[in-house]
Amino acid sequence: MSQEDEYFHKLDQEAKARLKESSDAKARDEAVAQRQALHAGKCGRCGGNMHPKPFRGVEIDVCEQCGSVLLDPGELEQLADRDRGGFAANFFESFRKK
Ligand SMILES: [Zn+2]
Repeated sequence: MSQEDEYFHKLDQEAKARLKESSDAKARDEAVAQRQALHAGKCGRCGGNMHPKPFRGVEIDVCEQCGSVLLDPGELEQLADRDRGGFAANFFESFRKK
């Protein structure tokens, strides 16, 4: 391959690599969007519908099918703080992110 051919071959390879990267990123974004559309508001355990329910002043999500509970970010801490020093505080402390 001449030097000029090599140069254009290299440019071509780089362009193909960039194209693949952008289509990979697009496919990833689409997969995430599909997953979110499918699972939003659904129970992670059984796929049932989640319903908001007040519990000790915090609105938690409870699965109408299996009773699993989903807490939004910060709700675990809110519940633990309302029970400072009690059983729940100690229990939740073991799950708190370090
Ligand atoms: Zn469930």
